[in-house]
Amino acid sequence: MKIDSDTKLYCLIGNPISKSLSPLIHNSIFEYNSINAKYLAFNIDNSAALEKVVHGLRALKVKGFNVTMPYKIEIMRYLDEIDEKAKILGAINTVLNIDGKLIGFNTDGDGFIKSLKDKEIDIKGKKALLVGAGGAAHSIAVSLAYEGIKEIIIVNRNIQNAHKLQKLIKSIYPNVHVRCYKLEQEEDIPKDIELLVNTTPIGMYPNIEDIPISPSRFNSRTLFYDIIYKPLNTKFILEAGELGYETINGIDMLINQAIYSQEIWNKELFDEKTDWLYIKDKIISQIEK
Ligand code: NAP
Repeated sequence: MKIDSDTKLYCLIGNPISKSLSPLIHNSIFEYNSINAKYLAFNIDNSAALEKVVHGLRALKVKGFNVTMPYKIEIMRYLDEIDEKAKILGAINTVLNIDGKLIGFNTDGDGFIKSLKDKEIDIKGKKALLVGAGGAAHSIAVSLAYEGIKEIIIVNRNIQNAHKLQKLIKSIYPNVHVRCYKLEQEEDIPKDIELLVNTTPIGMYPNIEDIPISPSRFNSRTLFYDIIYKPLNTKFILEAGELGYETINGIDMLINQAIYSQEIWNKELFDEKTDWLYIKDKIISQIEK
C-alpha cells in the first residue's frame, strides 16, 4: 500500500459506519485503476459534528465523499449546489468538491437501474412492486419511472409513507400508474408482477429468518430483487431461487452506486478501457471471503 504526499483522500461519513463495505469497494476501484488515493470511513457522532466535518473536508480540499445514514438529508444544508435528480429525491449520497464548491448527487437509483441493464432486463412498460417507501424506495421508484415503467405498486407498513411516495412519483411522472397497499393486507396485493423489489431491512442481518412477502404467491414471470446485501442472499432471495425464479441480490446495486460516485469524482476512469465487470467480480469475491 503506497501512500505519499500526492495520495488523495476520499471518504464516507455516517453513523454507524463500522460494517460499511464502501472502503473495500472504493479502495479496490483505486487499486485496479492504479489511482493514488485512499478511501476511509468516518463515524460522525451528531449534527454539530457533521457541520464541522464538512467544513474540514472542504478546507482539506478532499475531492469527494459519500454520505450515508443518518445524514443523507441533513448534508444538503452545507452544500453549494445540488444536482437535479438529488433535489427531486431530497437526499444525497455523493459529494464532489470543485475548488471548494461542494455539489451533491444521489447515485442509488442509477446503481439499481444499472444492475438491471447489465443483465439486459428492460423494464419499459412493465409492472413493479416495491416493498417499502423509505429513502431507497424513493430513489428506485423515481428511477423506474424515469426509465419508462408502466405501473408501480407500493406496499408499506405505514400507508401514509406509501402515499407520500405515490404523490412524489405522480408529481413528476403523471402517466405512471401508482397504487398503495398496507404490508399486512397481503391477500389484496396483486400477483401479476414483473419486478418485485424488497427495499425494507426485513431479512437483514441479524434478523435473517424474516421475509418481507412470500415469493410463492407470485409467478415465474416475476423477477425477485432484494436490495439487502447482508446477508448476500436473504431468505426472500433463497426462497424465490428455490422456486426456480430469477433473483438479484443487493450487492450489484451497492457496487454500481459506488461506480457512479467514481464517475462523478474521476471521469477519466470512464473510458472503454476500464473493465468494470472484472472489477465488480473481484470486489464480490473479496466480500464473499
Ligand atoms: P429507510 O429510509 O429507513 O426506509 C425503510 C423502509 O422499510 C420504510 O418503508 C419502512 O416502513 C420499512 N421498514 C423498516 N423496518 C420495517 C419492519 N420491521 N417491518 C416492515 N417495514 C419496515 O431505509 P432505506 O435507506 O430505504 O434502506 C432500506 C434498506 O435498503 C436497508 O436494509 C439498507 O441497507 C438497504 N439499502 C441497500 C442499498 C444497496 O445499494 N444495495 C442502498 C440503500 C439501502 P415505514 O414507512 O412503515 O417505517
